[in-house]
Amino acid sequence: HGHTARLYSSQDSVTILEADGVKGLLGNSSAAWVVEFYSSWCGHCVNYAPTWKALARDVKEWELAIRIGVMDCADEKNFAICAEYGIHFYPTFRYFKALTTQFTTGENYKGPNRELETIRQIMVDFLQNHTSTNKPPACPVLSTASSSSVLSLLGKHQTHYTAVIFEKEVSYVGREVILDLMQYENIIVKRVLDTDKKQKPLRSFFSSYLKSLSGVTKRPSLQYNAPVWQKDEAISLIKPWKYFDRTKVYMADLESGLHYLLRVELASHKILEGPELSTLKDFITVLSKLFPGQQPAVKLLETLQEWLVSLPLDKIPYNAILDLVNNKMRISGMFLTNRVEWVGCQGSQPQYRGYPCSLWTLFHTLTVQAATHPTMHILPGFDSPQILLQVIRKYIHYFFGCRECAQHFEEMAKESMDKVTTLDDAILWLWRKHNEVNNRLAGAPSEDPMFPKVAWPTPDHCPTCHEEIKGLHTWNEKEVLTYLKSYYSVDSISLKYSE
Ligand code: FAD
Repeated sequence: HGHTARLYSSQDSVTILEADGVKGLLGNSSAAWVVEFYSSWCGHCVNYAPTWKALARDVKEWELAIRIGVMDCADEKNFAICAEYGIHFYPTFRYFKALTTQFTTGENYKGPNRELETIRQIMVDFLQNHTSTNKPPACPVLSTASSSSVLSLLGKHQTHYTAVIFEKEVSYVGREVILDLMQYENIIVKRVLDTDKKQKPLRSFFSSYLKSLSGVTKRPSLQYNAPVWQKDEAISLIKPWKYFDRTKVYMADLESGLHYLLRVELASHKILEGPELSTLKDFITVLSKLFPGQQPAVKLLETLQEWLVSLPLDKIPYNAILDLVNNKMRISGMFLTNRVEWVGCQGSQPQYRGYPCSLWTLFHTLTVQAATHPTMHILPGFDSPQILLQVIRKYIHYFFGCRECAQHFEEMAKESMDKVTTLDDAILWLWRKHNEVNNRLAGAPSEDPMFPKVAWPTPDHCPTCHEEIKGLHTWNEKEVLTYLKSYYSVDSISLKYSE
């Protein structure tokens, strides 16, 4: 199995966790773990990877007490395990205690601050939260020593150094230095509380000074050996490039996106109830009326929709839905591809594009479908021109795995979605907001260099969409609307590469 997760490689100090073996590593481990569950298509995960790598390097010497791991939930091999852990959003940080006889599902860290120093301090707190029976055996004592116990050491002849760090209660330096030196012999570091107002001590000063004392050496035997994976996956990740036409929408992207949405994104929510359940019902209703797919997929959505709305339950285990999607329907000729085959949403590297691209494509297609084939508006409760956008908004809010994306989208929706008054307006609203996102993301590390984020449609694809008024670029929105209606129309969707 591969060891080159898409954002991390075996050169980084992180342990790359894979579905195979993850339970063996995290369960009953002699060290605690901090794991970042990420998705290689999530832009914020891409942006955050350098911080996580720097953290892993920074606390490399703590690894007998606490380790840093990563798991790519966008890798098909890991779909099931990420769902089992209930990872809904990316990135999700989980802490696994050491020596749990029962496998722990960990704890979420929901803090907004994900800076290196903050996470490192949380790691120290987390280590201290272990009880005396489950603390990692190699973890040194982190609690403060009393000044009397330290005083009693003075004058005693000892074979090792005792370093005493005096500091304030709130300071983490002492504990960080204790952990930095945990693999070193002939030295013990203690922390004593000090009420004096002194300079803020620097961790790097203490750690490097103490390591340099003569006779203080690193113990070689206790090294933790990160699992070594046999084959390099990097090569197998690169799929042969599929030629495609940039002026077209591909059914393969819509179907692969729907597959991911139904079988992976939603499946991470084990039980659906309350607003999540009503959002799912509304979203499937919308899809069953507007998804521009081929017969087997549309029939599947229609059957799923009928089943969902007829259910008298206020709680549904998502497995029941999955079961329907995966097994029951094949028999009667309803099915949805279970391959991920990106075409128009291909990235030049595996971490680029893919699912979020297919989701935008789906949403635009739905707004165009709603305006050109208004079948949905005969449904009770679905007659407002805003309804589709509101359902999309709820889907993103409750289910889209990219949390920051969802927050940004919610801010845009709050600001202006309620001003949409016609179905054409809805098309243009989504187009405008997508361009705002493109503009914000231009130049970000998640941008595929082969697909730069630009105002869309570009002048070469739609010359009449662009105008200049007194030397300033403006959109001709009438032309843009015509272009969108044709670009995202059912008739122009290419079936090439679709199953
Ligand atoms: P995408 O932006 O995904 O676009 C897909 C295709 O849509 C393009 O190839 C083009 O053919 C067409 N298109 C482009 N612009 C428009 C337009 N204005 N109107 C109609 N069609 C258009 N990533 C982040 O890092 N931060 C975020 O906050 C963020 N928010 C997101 C919010 C939502 C709702 C979604 C679905 C995604 C979000 N993403 C965010 C992901 C990001 O927008 C891209 O989807 C991702 O980076 C992949 O980019 P891409 O090059 O495939 O093009």
